[in-house]
Amino acid sequence: MSEAAETRALVGGTWTGPDGGRRFPVENPATGETIALVADTGPAEWRAALDAAEAAFPAWRERPAGERGAILRRWGELLLRDRERLARLMTLEQGKPLAEARGEVAYAASFLEWFGEEARRIEGSVRPAATADKRLLVLPRPIGTSVAITPWNFPLAMVTRKAGAALAAGCPMAVKPAEATPLSALAAGALAVEAGVPAGILSVLPTADPVPFGTAIFADARVRKVSFTGSTEVGKILIGLSARHVTRLSLELGGHAPFLVFADADLDRAVADCVASKFRNGGQTCVCANRILVERSVLAEFARRFAAAAAALPVGDGFAEGVRIGPLIDDAAVAKVLAQVADAVAGGAEVACGGGLVEVAGRTRRFVAPTVLVGVGPDRLCCREETFGPVAPILGFDSEAEAIALANDTPYGLAAYAFTRDAGRAFRLAEALDYGIVGINDGLPATAQAPFGGVKESGFGREGGREGVREYLVERFVSWRP
Ligand code: ADP
Repeated sequence: MSEAAETRALVGGTWTGPDGGRRFPVENPATGETIALVADTGPAEWRAALDAAEAAFPAWRERPAGERGAILRRWGELLLRDRERLARLMTLEQGKPLAEARGEVAYAASFLEWFGEEARRIEGSVRPAATADKRLLVLPRPIGTSVAITPWNFPLAMVTRKAGAALAAGCPMAVKPAEATPLSALAAGALAVEAGVPAGILSVLPTADPVPFGTAIFADARVRKVSFTGSTEVGKILIGLSARHVTRLSLELGGHAPFLVFADADLDRAVADCVASKFRNGGQTCVCANRILVERSVLAEFARRFAAAAAALPVGDGFAEGVRIGPLIDDAAVAKVLAQVADAVAGGAEVACGGGLVEVAGRTRRFVAPTVLVGVGPDRLCCREETFGPVAPILGFDSEAEAIALANDTPYGLAAYAFTRDAGRAFRLAEALDYGIVGINDGLPATAQAPFGGVKESGFGREGGREGVREYLVERFVSWRP
């Protein structure tokens, strides 16, 4: 690490070393090497960050929305200015192929551009009253000090997707990045300062143990809003903690995306988009295709083409030219994925390609081959639990009704995909799939303009779109007798 600032925490407006000098290691998942020792913040820094947020909130809230927006857009431009540096930092700490990391920097910047524009469109309303003597006003007000808890799979974009919305609405935010990937968040924090985000409005608080952090922030009544992206398991813990002070939550939790391919689909497009959806970030996204459901009359043909495309994806260090599948984030992720493959095979699935570890530069620990499993039973582990790895189970169906029933048979409800050329069916599916996001002939629907979020155990609240800003607003009703 060359930039010392990035190993300190951004507490209020100042870069601070940790209380007592505690630091924790960040490792390159491709090599296992320690790449940085990062400030391990504790209760003193968390309190200082919230104190600074509270102090800075009134001025930020009252600042003209156009000014807040201009600062956000400038922050986004700085991300793009430093795109290559940020992409390399991301690949180093997260492992994703460099081309994907560059894509994520642009995606992260797009949220700042979008929310920078949306800041000017936070509008209230005047409603007709039931009696002549009253005027009814709805005033959008920022909810207050906010906290983001972000995951390791999109170390930069999840920071800007949350902070962009909060800051646009007029709220300060303290971000706690995932232990595995604090460097991208710290780099984003440095650029926010350069863009003119005032002291206290954004803090970045890495910590080696997130559990005391969660306890501390929900114990502090000044925290009015927490936005979390991560596992359903942790999301449920946060729901419990939020009861204490009735803290408002947005939760973007696990997914188990069905990818439906009908016989009338353009199979070339379906294969290409399924590869993109399934194998992006090595399968480590919450909207990755997790069950591929194919109409039986085209199943063999789809499986043949899909397995050929998957098998051709180069696996390796994210910095190597042409690599499409990097390392998984840690050993536990590898063990989980391999257990799902073994379970599917034990249930009679055929391995069409992959199936195990791949050697990269003499190392095998974190590299899993793109794996396609055909003839998987719907009750196997990979069809029930989120995979978060490059493993694609293919199942068959005979009718639209069966496809919908199979697709909805899960406690999750984040993203679903359907490929068909029948416009009537497309519309029926858009309505019948019980998911927050439905991609019709589109394997990569996420974008800053649209609301992103789930139903059922995939969580609640929306990020992106105009809905994203609303998560940080309170609609104050003013009843006025002039
Ligand atoms: P994953 O299993 O993908 O690592 P997690 O849900 O464990 O997902 O982590 C997502 C984010 O939640 C990370 O920033 C992590 O540090 C944080 N986290 C994990 N457990 C807790 C907790 N008990 N309280 C607050 N944050 C937590």
